[in-house]
Amino acid sequence: MKRLSYLDIFNIISSEHEYNKIRTRFPVYTHFGHSFFIRTFAVNILNDKEMGKIILTGDRPTGRLHIGHYVGSLKRRVDLQNAGQYEKMFVFIADAQALTDNIDNPEKVRQNVIEVALDYLACGLDPTKATIFIQSQIPELCELSFYFMDLVTVSRLQRNPTVKTEIQMRNFETSIPVGFFTYPISQAADITAFRATTVPVGEDQEPMIEQAREIVRRFNHIYGDTLVEPEILLPDNAACLRLPGTDGKAKMSKSLGNCIYLSEEADEIQKKVMSMFTDPDHLRVQDPGKIEGNTVFTYLDAFCRPEHFERYLPDYPDLNELKAHYQRGGLGDVKVKRFLNAIMQETLEPIRNRRKEFEKDIPAIYDMLKQGCDVARAAAADTLSDVRKAMKINYFDDADLIAEQVKKFAAEK
Ligand code: ATP
Ligand code: MG
Repeated sequence: MKRLSYLDIFNIISSEHEYNKIRTRFPVYTHFGHSFFIRTFAVNILNDKEMGKIILTGDRPTGRLHIGHYVGSLKRRVDLQNAGQYEKMFVFIADAQALTDNIDNPEKVRQNVIEVALDYLACGLDPTKATIFIQSQIPELCELSFYFMDLVTVSRLQRNPTVKTEIQMRNFETSIPVGFFTYPISQAADITAFRATTVPVGEDQEPMIEQAREIVRRFNHIYGDTLVEPEILLPDNAACLRLPGTDGKAKMSKSLGNCIYLSEEADEIQKKVMSMFTDPDHLRVQDPGKIEGNTVFTYLDAFCRPEHFERYLPDYPDLNELKAHYQRGGLGDVKVKRFLNAIMQETLEPIRNRRKEFEKDIPAIYDMLKQGCDVARAAAADTLSDVRKAMKINYFDDADLIAEQVKKFAAEK
């Protein structure tokens, strides 16, 4: 990101609109008032802070992306990208990671790489602003994972809640592939190889980021300050932390088949919304209904904005009123589902249309990915050079080492 010039800073602090946009990110400073001095100070700090921000995230190519990905991470990436609040952004397709539990189905992974890339572009990721690449094409990531393996114990991996849940989800209890088991280690390598400071992900990834932070601390403690400790960036909206599946299961996930895909056709979206899990005890319209655990309302929490009421359900002023009516009784599931369907159609239609445009030139997408891989590889190689040096395995670029050995052997004679 270009550092803000004095003129940029002056423009921001002189415009109420621009200044209000950054105020929310400076609660402490703006707490002291909004004098010219405070404003300048705030914008300067913001400038410094965001100059060094490196954002990184990825998705497994195990299927097309769904609305859980969108609210959990993808939308945030696009917003950050468009706001320019970062120095570098890396987004990767985690094919090597996907192979750890699809080892006998490489074709599935291969087919879905392009699907994920199309979903990225359809949602607004822009390869001129973000480096989009494929994990397996960066061999430095394997190398770094290999070194990280010495910093983590088997019991620590066994305690990782994400690993535990994912093992259960896949019925792997007695036959866990080692590659899958070491998922948090390879993820730590993916993050640190690019010196990422900020990782926008869904809540399910929290223990993974925590483990990556532990690995960085341990590495830096043993080998000296080399790697950057990443921070997780969770969605602000609680409903988006872990969007449930259309079947009401705790997480919408490609592997569970309970998804609404971003590229879904209009009639499929409608079918899925109309057969969604609600409150199983809400049998008749006049019965009082439950909001908690009611997937339709969770999706409304995630997607509904005030203008949707004006457009599709003007009888209600807002979501609170709709919820209150449902809880009192007298509001049927079908009416709420129709409302949700209208919102989903409005949200997904532009994404689907943009995707269709990108589908017209598939070679260009592979080209874009290849260029992204080249940029990513150079960045990872740079970090690995520091890592090898810190770990004292950089034998051939260390002239001092050779001189030292010459001296040692000469003295022994
Ligand atoms: P798989 O079943 O193959 O693991 P997945 O649907 O869980 O696929 P991932 O590729 O593992 O998707 O996740 C990619 C990103 O999307 C992660 O940041 C994850 O936190 C986020 N994410 C995935 N599912 C959800 C969800 N239901 N709600 C919020 N965020 C999600
Ligand atoms: Mg997953």
